[in-house]
Amino acid sequence: MLPDNVKKANKVKIETVIKALERRGMKGYYAEDGEDALAQILAMIPEGSSVGRGGSETLNQIGVFEALHEGNYTCYEPFKEPDPVKGKQIRRAIFSADFMLTSANAVTMDGEIVNIDGTGNRMAAVIWGPDKVLYVVGANKLVGSLDEAEARIKSDACPPNCIRLAKKTPCAATGKCGNCLSPGNTVCCHTVVTRFNSVEDRVHVIFVNENLGF
Ligand code: SF4
Repeated sequence: MLPDNVKKANKVKIETVIKALERRGMKGYYAEDGEDALAQILAMIPEGSSVGRGGSETLNQIGVFEALHEGNYTCYEPFKEPDPVKGKQIRRAIFSADFMLTSANAVTMDGEIVNIDGTGNRMAAVIWGPDKVLYVVGANKLVGSLDEAEARIKSDACPPNCIRLAKKTPCAATGKCGNCLSPGNTVCCHTVVTRFNSVEDRVHVIFVNENLGF
C-alpha cells in the first residue's frame, strides 16, 4: 500500500501522461488499484473476444487471465504451451486475435511507451497484430525521459526478469547490466519506442496507481 502523498503525486503524474498520450493517438485511463484496473479491462473486452497474452508480471498480479478464463473468451497464452512447435503456432495466432494484453517496461511523462523484448513476438504483435492493444501499467513505470526509460529497464526490469526466466546474464548475477550478447540468455534484443499510433482507437493504456510488475 503506497502512502497517501505518493498516491496523490502518482495520480497527478498519470493525468499528465494521459494528456500526453492523447497527442500521440493513444487513449489512457486511470485506475485507483489493481481491482479497479481489472474491472476496467473486463468492461473493455466484450465476451466472445479472443485475447493474446504478452508475458507480464503486472497482468499476473492483477489476475487478468484468471478472470478471463471464467468468462467466454478465447485466450492465446504461448508460454503455457510446453511443445515449442505449438507455442510458435499460438504466437502466430495472436496476430489475428481481437485484443493484445500486455504491460510496458516504461512510459515517459511525454507519453512514449518503451519496451524491450527477447524473441520479439510480443512487440511484433503490439506493433502490427490484434485490432486492439491494451496495456496495463503500474505507476512505478513512469519515467522522465527515454534515457531514464532505458536505465529503468536495465536496472529494474531485466534483473528480476532474467532471474525469473533462469537466464545466465550479468544483470541476473550482479544486478548490473553487462551489455551482454549471449544467445538464449540476453533478453534485451529489441528496444521498441512507440511514439505515435496512427490507427484510430487501437492502443489503450490503463495506468494503475500501484507498484506493479517490473
Ligand atoms: S543487456 Fe544483458 S546484462 Fe544488460 S540488462 Fe539486458 S540481459 Fe541484462
